[in-house]
Amino acid sequence: MTDLQIAKKVQLQHINTIAEKLGINPDNIDPYGKYKAKLPLSLINRKQAEKSHLILVSAISPTPAGEGKTTISIGLNEGLNQIGKKSIVVLREPSLGPVFGIKGGATGGGYSQVLPMEDINLHFTGDFSAIEKAHNLLAAIIDNNIQSKTTSVNLDPRTISWKRVIDMNDRALRRVIVGLGGTTSGVPRETGFDITAASEIMAILCLAESLSDLKQRLGNIFIGYTFDKKPIYARDLKAEGAMAVLLKDAIKPNLVQTIEGNPAIIHGGPFANIAQGTNSVIATLTGMSLADYTVTEAGFGFDLGAEKFFDIKCQSAKLNPKAVVLTATIRALKYHGGADLKSLTAPNVEALKNGLPNLEKHLENILKFKVTPIIAINRFATDTDEEIAVIKNFAAQKDIPVALADVWAKGGKGAVELAQLVVNAIDKNTSQFTPLYKWEDSVTGKIETIATRIYGAEHVDYTSRARADLKKIADLGLEGLPVCIAKTQKSLSDNPLLLGRPKDFIITVREIEIAAGAGFLIPITGDIMRMPGLPPHPAAENISIDDDGEISGLF
Ligand code: ADP
Ligand code: MG
Repeated sequence: MTDLQIAKKVQLQHINTIAEKLGINPDNIDPYGKYKAKLPLSLINRKQAEKSHLILVSAISPTPAGEGKTTISIGLNEGLNQIGKKSIVVLREPSLGPVFGIKGGATGGGYSQVLPMEDINLHFTGDFSAIEKAHNLLAAIIDNNIQSKTTSVNLDPRTISWKRVIDMNDRALRRVIVGLGGTTSGVPRETGFDITAASEIMAILCLAESLSDLKQRLGNIFIGYTFDKKPIYARDLKAEGAMAVLLKDAIKPNLVQTIEGNPAIIHGGPFANIAQGTNSVIATLTGMSLADYTVTEAGFGFDLGAEKFFDIKCQSAKLNPKAVVLTATIRALKYHGGADLKSLTAPNVEALKNGLPNLEKHLENILKFKVTPIIAINRFATDTDEEIAVIKNFAAQKDIPVALADVWAKGGKGAVELAQLVVNAIDKNTSQFTPLYKWEDSVTGKIETIATRIYGAEHVDYTSRARADLKKIADLGLEGLPVCIAKTQKSLSDNPLLLGRPKDFIITVREIEIAAGAGFLIPITGDIMRMPGLPPHPAAENISIDDDGEISGLF
């Protein structure tokens, strides 16, 4: 059965019923139809949230297919509920682009899904559209300011880094010229489009803790320089108020349900390379205010998503995570051990053993944050008992709890052991979350700490462009921001071809972007895609709807 077929068999509960399970009076929610609702920010209660146990689901370095963090997060939440714990799962919203491209949706899989999956994967409650509009409003205000003779702040169009966004994989928009058509149609300049998930507004929305915080961050967006080299921010164009208005509903987290009728919160969807790759702070704090256990996910492998989760999000919002569930798949470990991508379903104990150093490095990295690790083996139908035993033995030698998680095939029943291990680990109270670096460290110090301690690099090289950017950051007084390193997810290094546990490599920082609104710097270490393209046969070709409104071909 496809994910959509499994999802369609489920008798959904009314969203009021789901709200009541969390002790929320249905009068307090804003329903979007029968099965989705926006939650008010007033549900956030810091005292209550501090008592909730925050569990981060991360993964080893992934294969292109994804290793199942979302699926494991949803399944673990079902498992925790099955063993009688009040638990909630808090996740990112999917982006439309991949839905019509290759990767598909991001609502879990098999018997571990959030519902209604077709809505969540499509327009959902309109958050992405609102972010797109707020982003493009600033773009329109910028071009209007260049046009205006009386109100111009003298922006040098060649220095403007703010582009436009659209939630579609559309490579033809990567570079465009705007302002063509004569004196009444703007000043021609080169710019481009990113996908909405890559918008700085997305990163901002996901770090903001209130509307006033949101407005302040929007005002801090760095736009470019005047012809006499003065920096211009969104606040200089008085853009932040109107942008915040467009985001008044998007800032509220969305309540939905899992296949087993447990509450789930889904909110925000920033990229995990150029941004923090995890759902909004507001959603996490809402979940933590309502449940004793809060399961959440950060994008890609531990080196990318989880490092940012800890050093950016947890530091920013003062969160204290208690455990990391490290998702490992036998197929990915075989891949790291030298097996060909096409042969990963065939048993191969030797390749699996050769791939273990990748798992080992991610486990060592978790301990550097003084948070307790638990390994979840995400079971695939092709895994053999012998292969599963290899990982279990490895974990036993390292004294790290490990469970086989069969959540894709069995839902919560497949995660009872994992849930129990997570609860036991948290009960032992051994985690003492400690960030890897201090925000006040120097920019190069922060980059080098991550590169050497997490990636395992020998040292860091900077191009002359990156050195110029360091100077620019110093001149702008932004050295105290944390760093959000953009790197390939395929390798611990910045070279996607170095699998397993690469050693003796150098990380090269090519440039450093500024996301002053979101509140971080983005050292770029490779070619980072902000506007994906579609494949020759996009998934869109198979997607349709009939007269009864039944959707087909969606995963
Ligand atoms: P991630 O969050 O790490 O990107 P997902 O949970 O979205 O990964 O899973 C990626 C894809 O793999 C999804 O299509 C999902 O349905 C599928 N998948 C995940 N786990 C399994 C499994 N155990 N067996 C089969 N398919 C799986
Ligand atoms: Mg995911």
